[in-house]
Amino acid sequence: MSDTPRAAAAGSPVPAIAVRRSKVNGRGLFATADLHGRRKLGELSGELVKLLPGTWERFGRSPKIYLVQVSHRYALECSRGNAFKYLNHSCEPNCYLRVYRRRVEVYSRRDIARGTELTVDYGQTPHRQGMRCRCGSARCRGVI
Ligand SMILES: [Zn+2]
Repeated sequence: MSDTPRAAAAGSPVPAIAVRRSKVNGRGLFATADLHGRRKLGELSGELVKLLPGTWERFGRSPKIYLVQVSHRYALECSRGNAFKYLNHSCEPNCYLRVYRRRVEVYSRRDIARGTELTVDYGQTPHRQGMRCRCGSARCRGVI
């Protein structure tokens, strides 16, 4: 595996990101170097699955990213995907997901200091409704 940006674009995490224990929830993704804002960090990898009745319910019980809708009929199933599945939710996230041609790209929203946990808003992912949010943000909505 190469550590070039091209490799990151193909789905593997960039070298400046590591999976560590998170205070928010289980394991999380952390910056191991200062990251610039508005940069592509990589892509969530996984398997494209067709959205059928029940698909959301089947994957909706997790506080982790397991399914991201990428089109009207398809979603990316990430349970066996790369480290980006460990992105935790925050009501004031420092990263965001962008769906482009059935791919899920991960971008930084702003400059991120080394050691900071990377977070996204789970708006695009299914999760158990009313799950309590522990993101710690001043603007926390209280539930995910
Ligand atoms: Zn919150």
